[in-house]
Amino acid sequence: MARYDIAIIGAGIAGASLAAVVAPHASIVILESEERPGFHATGRSAAFWSETYGGPHVQPLTSASGDALSAGGFLDPLGALQIGRRDDAAKIDAFLAEFEGSGVILDAVDPHGIVPGLRAEWTLGVLERSCAYIDVAGLHAAFLATARRHGGQLLLGSAMRGAVRAGDLWRIDIGNDEPVAATILVDAAGAWADQVAACAGVAPLGISPFRRTMVQLRTNPAPPEKLPLVSDIGGTFYFKPEAGGRLWLSPHDEITAEPGDAQPEEIDIAIAIDRFERVVDWQVERVEHRWAGLRSFAPDRLPVYGFDPTAPGFFWCAGQGGFGIQTAPAAAALAASLLLGVSPEAFVAAIDPMRYAPDRFRSLA
Ligand SMILES: Cc1cc2nc3c(=O)[nH]c(=O)nc-3n(C[C@H](O)[C@H](O)[C@H](O)COP(=O)(O)OP(=O)(O)OC[C@H]3O[C@@H](n4cnc5c(N)ncnc54)[C@H](O)[C@@H]3O)c2cc1C
Repeated sequence: MARYDIAIIGAGIAGASLAAVVAPHASIVILESEERPGFHATGRSAAFWSETYGGPHVQPLTSASGDALSAGGFLDPLGALQIGRRDDAAKIDAFLAEFEGSGVILDAVDPHGIVPGLRAEWTLGVLERSCAYIDVAGLHAAFLATARRHGGQLLLGSAMRGAVRAGDLWRIDIGNDEPVAATILVDAAGAWADQVAACAGVAPLGISPFRRTMVQLRTNPAPPEKLPLVSDIGGTFYFKPEAGGRLWLSPHDEITAEPGDAQPEEIDIAIAIDRFERVVDWQVERVEHRWAGLRSFAPDRLPVYGFDPTAPGFFWCAGQGGFGIQTAPAAAALAASLLLGVSPEAFVAAIDPMRYAPDRFRSLA
């Protein structure tokens, strides 16, 4: 039976980024159910880095990740504009107040100077200039390549079916293949995080997947090249320009789902287009592409990194919600320091990992 220091379950961005940081220091294997890593949430994102997205308790992870993403060439300027109608003034104020003192620069602007054809009632705007496109595929591939270069093994088509702790080792069942042994089991299984815990005999944390829909549109006029990511401060849509004059649009839906291969529903596509047409006077000419993915949240909507206090050798790296890619470098560095029991790298040293500890969901009485 092959034996490793660490077995990571899931080769999405969470598992891949953690593997890249840990592989130089420990023997690791990544077990991935699918034949292609990134088949689930990681391959279905809207691909932006926004310091405000996910709220003020996620922002330190996103902001800390910015330099690493930028140094690797994974970011391209985009900008983000939150828009609102007159009745949304309190929401705009609350949004500005949430990030006051955070270091994120937000400017109140007239949205009509930025979005041509914006309907008259959208009078309020807040611009976040730092928002950027992320090259998700490039980032994910780079993490996996780093892990491999340091001896990490990636086993595709290898779903963990169960795991039993005997002494200080996990014996991990991967179906017909030879089981794998590891001292530490990392649960980076995205929407399946609770299921993976349960089949290792660990109590779930309540990590729940929610479906989100995306459509790629042709519009007339085509979105201007310099259009930022445009979102409703009320959280009912966002859209952003893409290469070749295309537009990506989401109704910002969050629909309860089971873990699986999420598919878009016609109704959600229709809702997205209806909302879009109430924002700008552009015509939707064609839906070129549609997809959906699962965003998985812990009950308090913050990610979970750390050893489970009730299960020796079981480490959570889950609940990345809608921000798993933009936070990946910092999250991986923070999680790796907990996993290896070493001091965190300087760029995450100011972030308190206790905020994300699984302990917050466990009664230790
Ligand atoms: C529509 C949409 C838009 C988004 N936009 C953004 C964005 O702009 N910016 C951003 O930062 N984030 C965004 N996100 C969120 C981001 O995609 C996720 O937070 C992130 O991809 C989660 O990564 P993950 O590795 O935890 O999950 P996944 O990518 O789902 O990976 C988990 C992996 O675990 C594997 N697995 C499950 N069970 C087992 C098992 N038993 N054995 C072995 N393998 C197993 C699965 O096959 C899967 O490959 C978006 C998400 C969606 C759906």
